[in-house]
Amino acid sequence: MNNDNCVFCRIANGEIPAHFVYNDDDVMAILDINPVAKGHMLVIPKYHAKYYHELPEKYAKKIATTLLLVTKALEAENYNILQNNGKLAGQEVPHVHFHVIPKPSKDEGLGIRFPSKQETSEALTELAKEIKEKIDKLL
Ligand code: 5GP
Ligand code: ZN
Repeated sequence: MNNDNCVFCRIANGEIPAHFVYNDDDVMAILDINPVAKGHMLVIPKYHAKYYHELPEKYAKKIATTLLLVTKALEAENYNILQNNGKLAGQEVPHVHFHVIPKPSKDEGLGIRFPSKQETSEALTELAKEIKEKIDKLL
């Protein structure tokens, strides 16, 4: 499944060049054109879906094994794996992709804001129940 207007589909089809580090029938890993740090890579399924949850399981599994490969090859002591879904969440290219971003120093790589809040145990129990019920329906 691909989309003629999508930059990652066009890279997958060989219409736009990229620096490949891994490539097979289902997934590719390329260097990010505007790296946040040296070695910033993107792991991209060869299936056009905007959101991670829209991926067929086959592609999700291939992404997982490819992430293992590229992170082993990276040999970084510190790194982040990031995957943005939706504009508010920072997604610019509407085709699923995982960022692998080395964090060589405090000032290089990804800056993370983690605005944690306190939550009651009762509220967490209720929320876990709601989500678990939905998961049980999906199984
Ligand atoms: P997002 O914000 O959607 O999670 O990340 C999109 C990423 O794709 C950005 O880091 C951007 O630099 C990268 N990108 C956008 N266009 C291209 C391209 O044509 N080639 C490569 N290699 N990376 C791209
Ligand atoms: Zn696409």
